Amino acid sequence: MELKITSPDKIIYPKQKITKLQVANYYLDISELMLPYLKNRPLAVVRCHGNIENECFFKKHLTNEAFDVKLFKNEENEYFYLTTQKEIVQQVQMGTLEFHVWGSNVKNIEKPDIMVFDLDPDEGLSLKKLRDSVLKVKSVLDELGLKSFLKTSGGKGYHIVLPFKYVWSWKRFYDFSKMVALLIEGRWPEVFTTNIKKNQRKGKVFIDYMRNNRGSTCVCAYSLRAKSGASVSMPISWEDLNNIKPNQVTIKNYKDYVNDSWVDFDKVRQTIV
Ligand code: ATP
Ligand code: MN
Repeated sequence: MELKITSPDKIIYPKQKITKLQVANYYLDISELMLPYLKNRPLAVVRCHGNIENECFFKKHLTNEAFDVKLFKNEENEYFYLTTQKEIVQQVQMGTLEFHVWGSNVKNIEKPDIMVFDLDPDEGLSLKKLRDSVLKVKSVLDELGLKSFLKTSGGKGYHIVLPFKYVWSWKRFYDFSKMVALLIEGRWPEVFTTNIKKNQRKGKVFIDYMRNNRGSTCVCAYSLRAKSGASVSMPISWEDLNNIKPNQVTIKNYKDYVNDSWVDFDKVRQTIV
């Protein structure tokens, strides 16, 4: 693909000396795997001024883009979305590092089809406790007959992701995810909290279901993070939970971790009854 990246040698990740060209090449390489989870979904992107140690911005709206971006408009707002590899790389050219997606796509924007439970450990909580909590969540989802998929966040935690058929309204979808989170908190109150306040998290894992709200976003599978380490939010198998740390997969080593644990993701498309 022909695309000019200006300032290709600009250092984006100072510690690892990762350049803008390396970021572009990463997305060029990963886009085929990433697009199924990114395509047609309203987006927010993280861009940094200069490098990741300067100011970084979370942008839900794009203005004055040098490239055309696809826009979805309704009465209240205007969102942007992408559909091609080329558009992903154009975003890199514009300074984008992270891609965050909605739980629905523009074709059925009022009918969410991807649910996420984000597990955020209290500072200092052991990795073992975090991993135990991830398996506890999975066990409840299994009990409910729901198939779930796992990815590293690229930061401190893991994301549990569930594909649904787009049949429920946002309200029902959100309420269901909240009920599941409350069920989990109720079963293991020493392990989980559904309270977003940091002071309620002592020694616990915050189970964040609030991303299942209309307009909320979660970092897309395979997105880079604008964090030191140049980590990736990587789909992993449940068996690899104990082998792969939340920030272990990076722009440098991702080829060693690409796997087929999510191949059935789109086939699963379950319903909630
Ligand atoms: P970690 O495992 O470290 O918690 P994470 O991806 O789960 O990683 P954050 O990087 O803190 O957590 O993500 C913040 C969440 O909030 C994402 O789902 C993102 O889409 C959303 N978000 C909403 N507004 C912002 C904002 N202004 N800046 C960053 N993220 C935002
Ligand atoms: Mn998180």
